[in-house]
Amino acid sequence: MTLSDHSQLGPAAGAAPAAAPGTVYLVGAGPGDPGLLTRHGADALARADVVVYDRLADDSMLALAPVDAELIYVGKQAAVHAVPQKRINELLSSHAAQGKCVVRLKGGDPFVFGRGGEEATHLRERGIPFIVVPGVSSAIAAPAYAGIPVTDRRHASSFAVITGHEDPTKLHSRIDWAGIANGADTLVFLMGLTNLSSICERLVAEGRAANTPAAVIERGTTPGQRVVTATLADLPERVAAAGLHPPSLIVVGEVVRMREHLAWHDSQPLAGRRILVPRVRRRPSEIVRLLKAAGAETVEVPVLRCETLPATGDLLERLRDVDWLVFTSPGALEALLEQLTHLGHDVRALGTARIAAVGPASAAHVARCGLHVTYAPETAAGFATGFPAPEGAAVTLVDEEGGEPHAVRDLSARGALCKELPVFRLATDERAPLPAIDQFDAIAFASSNTVRRFLEAYPEGPTPDQVVISIGPTTSGTATGLGVRIDAEAAGASPAAVAQLLIERLGSTSGPLA
Ligand code: SAH
Repeated sequence: MTLSDHSQLGPAAGAAPAAAPGTVYLVGAGPGDPGLLTRHGADALARADVVVYDRLADDSMLALAPVDAELIYVGKQAAVHAVPQKRINELLSSHAAQGKCVVRLKGGDPFVFGRGGEEATHLRERGIPFIVVPGVSSAIAAPAYAGIPVTDRRHASSFAVITGHEDPTKLHSRIDWAGIANGADTLVFLMGLTNLSSICERLVAEGRAANTPAAVIERGTTPGQRVVTATLADLPERVAAAGLHPPSLIVVGEVVRMREHLAWHDSQPLAGRRILVPRVRRRPSEIVRLLKAAGAETVEVPVLRCETLPATGDLLERLRDVDWLVFTSPGALEALLEQLTHLGHDVRALGTARIAAVGPASAAHVARCGLHVTYAPETAAGFATGFPAPEGAAVTLVDEEGGEPHAVRDLSARGALCKELPVFRLATDERAPLPAIDQFDAIAFASSNTVRRFLEAYPEGPTPDQVVISIGPTTSGTATGLGVRIDAEAAGASPAAVAQLLIERLGSTSGPLA
């Protein structure tokens, strides 16, 4: 599931409980994969005035907050101490006291080693209303993404989640090590990487067999997930050799063996690959969905906001006596409907004009809104060529401000009377930092405009060892014209063909299984 899909679910599908102004939402962000954020969580973020967040394995979900929401980072930074808990508590209560909607976003579940209980206590003491939105805890999800069920009828009928933060060699421990070592079939230690050796030693000293299977999972549920499996006896050495870093957790128990057969996430063809997909639309592209499904980490730049233009008074006039309405991008219809709503009208103002869409994504979007699409060729390049009876037809293209689609030029050349109706503008979201270009294994261009956006963000162009892919001849032509090298072109000019080409170029069938 992609982030923006949440917006399509509509409020009825997953609305968080309605709350009075000045409420604090204690939200679990899940373990890393942004798709594991709950609907309540996404809904709370969408109405946040203030988001107070920790270091997250993937912070792309912050983009769900309104553009003008205040984002306050309180997590740890390398060599810099975290904001003290007392200060975090004060931040929550002071913003809530001003009547703001405050989201406290935490990794995993807020009540699993997240100090959510302390924050809730602080708020309760001050009479500030709060709502807890549980999250998917890494304690269960990271093993699941590694192919390790924490329980299994055949191997484990109990599991325990334990802090590994406390050094087991400490004389007076709050942890009952003897009880823990033998008290549950599966043991999951969070925050335990630093103490890995002493945890393993202590478990063996308390009677757990030295040959018990054990694993460390780094960045579980993210495309960068790494897993090292061994036994209690040699896990520390193997983990040191692999150089695993936090966030990582430790799983101990017979269930670890099941990974041998059940590993799925890190054995996908594009696992561990980072692919840059320059974008011109707010919605994540179909290419991104397919690449993610193949296990790749995708980064869409620049991060864009789609701003609906103010409706002009003559909007209804401009929709009248039109033979064809052409939607040039999936955002176009949405923006037009927003303009109509603003003027007190609705979809009926579109009248009886026939509807065309440029590209399959636009067509699918228009159809989802309940409108019949009469003409929608597979590729944008063939749009004007196949247009039915263009001679003398009144065609209105609903599009982006300054979009200048090829379609207008080519349709006019075929005798159509074309008018443009700009309904939205794309603005770069300045809050989002740009990753360095050399972090990517590949770049995929889905249209000519994505090449232009890419060059705005990265004027230096691709590095020599990156695989640069184009969706088809039009895009390749634009790219080479602008001095951007194209290494391969997708056969069939479809998102699926782009994903397939990348799998051929970068994929491995075995995957980086440890
Ligand atoms: N509330 C969180 C846990 C907070 S404690 C939850 O429910 O998941 C932070 C610890 O969680 C980290 O030190 C690490 O041990 C573990 N952790 C969090 N995210 C992780 C991830 N993606 N992969 C592996 N371990 C993770």
